[in-house]
Amino acid sequence: MNQGIPDPENFLNSLPVQVKCVAVSKTKPVEEIMRLYDLGHRFFGENKVQEMVLKYERLPKDIEWHLVGHLQTNKVKSIAGFISLIHSVDSLHLLETINREALKAERIIDVLLQMYIATEETKYGMDRNELNTLLESESCQSMRNIRIRGLMGIASFTADVVQVRNEFRTLKNTFEEIKSDYFKGDDHFSELSMGMSGDYTIAIEEGATIIRIGSILFGERNYI
Ligand SMILES: *Cc1c(COP(=O)(O)O)cnc(C)c1O
Repeated sequence: MNQGIPDPENFLNSLPVQVKCVAVSKTKPVEEIMRLYDLGHRFFGENKVQEMVLKYERLPKDIEWHLVGHLQTNKVKSIAGFISLIHSVDSLHLLETINREALKAERIIDVLLQMYIATEETKYGMDRNELNTLLESESCQSMRNIRIRGLMGIASFTADVVQVRNEFRTLKNTFEEIKSDYFKGDDHFSELSMGMSGDYTIAIEEGATIIRIGSILFGERNYI
C-alpha cells in the first residue's frame, strides 16, 4: 500500500477532536518522533518494551507513552514508572504483575483489556468468556494500583471491509456490555482503542476513542 509522503499535520488535523491518535513510532528513530513532537503531538506508542525505554530516556518527559504490543510479565517492571496506558492486557496474571509493579512505583497504571476479534490465529487477546472470568475474579476486584480504562482490539488484516466493520462492532458491543455489567457509574471505563492506518476510518465510525496510527504518520516500515 503506497500512501505517498506522509503529511502528519494534515492527517492529525483531519481527525474528529474526540478521537485520540496514538502515533505508533516502532522502528522509527527519535528524530522522526521529534518531528511530530515539534508539531505539538504528545501521544506515542511502541510495541516493544526495550525500544520504548530507550526512546523514553532520550525524549522529552511530557510525552505520553502507550504500549500497544504484547507485554511479557518480566518486562513490566521497566515501564511501570512512566507508562501512560497499556493497551494489551491479555491475562489476569499480567494484570496482577502490573498491579504489583505499579504499587512499587507508587502509581496507578491505566490499562485496556485486549479482546481477540480477528479471525487470524496470530493476534493476542482474550475472548468474551476470558474477559468475564478476569473481571469477576476476586484478584481483579482487589487490585488498587491499576485502573481498567476500556478495551482494545486488532481487526483482521483483510480487504473485506464488511468483516472489519463487524469485528469493530463486536468490540464496541462488548465494551458497552462490560461497562454496564461491571463499571456502572465509573466514568473511567470510557476508552475503546481500535483502528490502524488501514482501517481507522471504519473504527471511528464504529466508536473508537483511540486510534493507533503508524504508517500514515511515519511512512511504511521495513519490518514489524
Ligand atoms: C504497528 C501497530 C499499529 C500501527 O500500524 P499501522 O498499520 O502502521 O498504522 C497499531 N497497533 C498495533 C498493536 C501495532 O503493533
